[in-house]
Amino acid sequence: MKVLITQSALDGRTDELASEINATYGEEPVVLLCVLKGAYIFAADLARRLTCPVVVDFIQVSSYGDSTVSSGVVQLKRDHDVNIEGRHTLVVEDIVDSGLTLEHLLAMLRTRRPRSLRTVAMLSKARARGFEAPLDWVGFEIENQFVVGYGLDHAENYRNLPYIGLMEE
Ligand code: 5GP
Repeated sequence: MKVLITQSALDGRTDELASEINATYGEEPVVLLCVLKGAYIFAADLARRLTCPVVVDFIQVSSYGDSTVSSGVVQLKRDHDVNIEGRHTLVVEDIVDSGLTLEHLLAMLRTRRPRSLRTVAMLSKARARGFEAPLDWVGFEIENQFVVGYGLDHAENYRNLPYIGLMEE
């Protein structure tokens, strides 16, 4: 496994994102919607750095199965329990690739009329793929390559790696 983003780079960037997010919400309560499974470590690290009142909930969508390319079909596997109507809602994503998952998710969440709907992704390939993702905050823009670790899997493996890695061919 080749290390693409080290543990300390992830920590440092999460500090920066958290201070921007803290400045945005101030004392206002926020619902953190962690997109399972890939965002679980990032969401946990981010949540512990937030100073506003936080409610954490989870949503699960699936588009990849065990493949490394998107099937183009976004399926809702688990919905959140907490009512987001009239509440500041922050979607915590692992990685944006084609942007399809996020687009689908935001369209669905908007119909539930949150007070505000913002998004943070640990990683994005949007720039490399030639589009602008609807993200308020991005940890790192990466090239169009398949990465694992820090929550991200390949066929359910490697989620526990404390860094972002590139699988050797
Ligand atoms: P999109 O809908 O933007 O094409 O894909 C987003 C989802 O695909 C992510 O939430 C993640 O689950 C998965 N994904 C996209 N790129 C990668 C990658 O490089 N590695 C891993 N492990 N998952 C990825």
